[in-house]
Amino acid sequence: MTTHTPHDIKTYRQRLRHALDNAFLRQTLDTFAAAYRESRAKAFEGIDLESLIDDIARRKASALPRLEELFAQFKARAEAAGAVVHSAKTAQEANELIAAIARENGVRKIIKSKSMTAEETFLNAHLERHGFHVTETDLGEWIIQLRREGPSHMVLPAIHLSRHQVAELFEKVTGEKQNPDDIEQMVKVARRTLRRAYLEADMGISGANFAVAESGTLGLVTNEGNGRLVTTLPRVHVALVGYDKLVPDLETALTILKALPRNATGQIISTYVTWITGAVPCDASLSGRKILHIIFLDNGRLQLAKDPVFSQALQCVRCGACANVCPIYRLVGGHNYGHVYIGAIGLILTAFYHGTENARALVMNCLNCQSCKAVCPAGIDLPYLIKNAVRHVLDQEGRRPIKNVVLAKVLKDRKLFHFLLRRASLVQKPLAGKAPLIRHLPLFFDKAHGFRSLPVIQAVPLRDRWERLQPQVSDPAMRVTLFGGCLTDFVYPEQAEAALPILADHGVAVDYPMAQTCCGLPALMAAEKETARDVALQNVRAVDVDQTDWILTLCASCGSHMKENYPKLLGDDPVWGQRVRAFAEKVIDFSSFLKDVLKVSSDAFMPSHEKTAYHAPCHLCRGLKVVEAPRDLLKTAGLDYVPSRDEDVCCGFGGSYSLEFPEISAELLKRKLDAVESAGARMLVTDCPGCVLQLRGGADKQARSFRVCHIAEAVARAYRGKTDEALKFL
Ligand code: SF4
Ligand code: SF4
Repeated sequence: MTTHTPHDIKTYRQRLRHALDNAFLRQTLDTFAAAYRESRAKAFEGIDLESLIDDIARRKASALPRLEELFAQFKARAEAAGAVVHSAKTAQEANELIAAIARENGVRKIIKSKSMTAEETFLNAHLERHGFHVTETDLGEWIIQLRREGPSHMVLPAIHLSRHQVAELFEKVTGEKQNPDDIEQMVKVARRTLRRAYLEADMGISGANFAVAESGTLGLVTNEGNGRLVTTLPRVHVALVGYDKLVPDLETALTILKALPRNATGQIISTYVTWITGAVPCDASLSGRKILHIIFLDNGRLQLAKDPVFSQALQCVRCGACANVCPIYRLVGGHNYGHVYIGAIGLILTAFYHGTENARALVMNCLNCQSCKAVCPAGIDLPYLIKNAVRHVLDQEGRRPIKNVVLAKVLKDRKLFHFLLRRASLVQKPLAGKAPLIRHLPLFFDKAHGFRSLPVIQAVPLRDRWERLQPQVSDPAMRVTLFGGCLTDFVYPEQAEAALPILADHGVAVDYPMAQTCCGLPALMAAEKETARDVALQNVRAVDVDQTDWILTLCASCGSHMKENYPKLLGDDPVWGQRVRAFAEKVIDFSSFLKDVLKVSSDAFMPSHEKTAYHAPCHLCRGLKVVEAPRDLLKTAGLDYVPSRDEDVCCGFGGSYSLEFPEISAELLKRKLDAVESAGARMLVTDCPGCVLQLRGGADKQARSFRVCHIAEAVARAYRGKTDEALKFL
């Protein structure tokens, strides 16, 4: 098996570029992603998914501090039932143990059912080196074993291969001509070959989805029935199980089972669920009983379980869903989006199980789009852990990139940061001229970065216009603090200007504290947690939380970061914790504010019926969980909302991500713009200035037939006001 993960970003980017040229791979993963989404939704119909996730997360989390105790309990029960239970500290130790068991029992031929834990230890390669003949029996695993490669998905290991590639492979193995269109015939070929392997094998190796401590029982969830044959036919059975699979009782296993197949493949239940307790009678064994060895693999898990941040990763139930929904995985496939473990969880676990060198480039490849978090049945905050994993890798390697040092210095010092932004507005003049966009970048920029035009930094930011713009509201109905964020303040002040008349017209007094600064998300994205904390505190101190009803932002990314991450960063602070939580509670996005707080009605708008598509920013629909308000608002404002494909899939911006991985960013952007074009929209609306930057820049560069607006601009244009007073702002 081969697993070559590039150790540096440059080589990794080359690999990604190569993967982007694989049209078959993208088509397959696209089709799968669409089908998965639908079948998952159907499978969970009638189930309170949120409660189920909470229940699984709670059960798994409470087992983690007790892993050693659960192991002891499992061992006592399983050994009383005739099994032998071992613990292996490292992958090497586990492999050697299995080889020794095979030797002791005179084993030559081994069959295996699919096991990610065995992939983690590179077990097959070890056994083959020691002269054993190993056959994988899961169809996908067998195919990739024949190709000498690793799985490209945790549940569907050969999803990256076409039937033509499989037919070609089978021809080589059998020496017989294969018809790639006759899949049934190819399955028969596999069945014939594998059946022989089952009958000839002396030993079966499996993993396990659960190790139930109260009874010493293993639980296996499979679809092909091979797991059952592997564990029952040969006289020796070895199960290799991660410590993280220990659960206290059957009830916990069954709770996880309720979500596992539904979340993995959209099935209500897998075809086979096998429970094994102890050594059962076995005619093939001289003793008349099965020889059963169960090996628990540590490989860093027991240490990880004690980590206050990363222990969450051990809640994973290996459903593979975090890959299914990841927009990057969809483009480049699992061989480029994982080392052994694939998808978001793979980005995290690689550093702990397979060394920081294998995680170094990989862990950077995350848009922070939150899609994985939204589907994880174990409630793992995957994007947050990925950002922490970046820091872990840097700390382990004793490195701190110079860009991080600069970013930290600049972001912490608001005056310096704003001074530099004002300077940048002067420097960019020769590039932009009088145009609102920079269409050609200097040559020293890699040509990969020219996929979008860039906005100019304003000579007069929002903060310098505030004195003129602040609405004068006598006897206000409520007070709101406007949080600008870098983009609204320095790049798109017109978005805030558009919103103000509507607010004033509804009796909303608006403050714009001058001490506010960047929300700090770029620092967190760069794994500069201390800076993110420092900047968050500056913003909390800038706002008089008790004197404001809402903290309104036009930026979904700022909003989601302040609401969700500020309490994580500072919620436990003995001095500021309470104020930080109060601050976070008051954060609200523009659409929700207009729909749910101001309750704007269609009477206040002049309908234009312009065909309008909507892009749902990741940090709004998944971060703040605001889904319907923007679409409702568009309809209220008299625009004809037209749905488009993959509305809630990331546009590819991701802040600095689009600079680090421009090829991926450009491809996601193109797909988004294609979808809007196909929907026949004249306007594309979104509610995050970062998305506006990406989408508007792309639409301009590609001369698309629609324009891109922030929702505040689109709505303000249609607003006719409740009073004449308001109109003077328009
Ligand atoms: S992290 Fe969550 S979504 Fe990903 S494989 Fe594990 S349980 Fe599934
Ligand atoms: S946050 Fe988005 S890009 Fe990052 S791993 Fe999760 S799904 Fe993929």
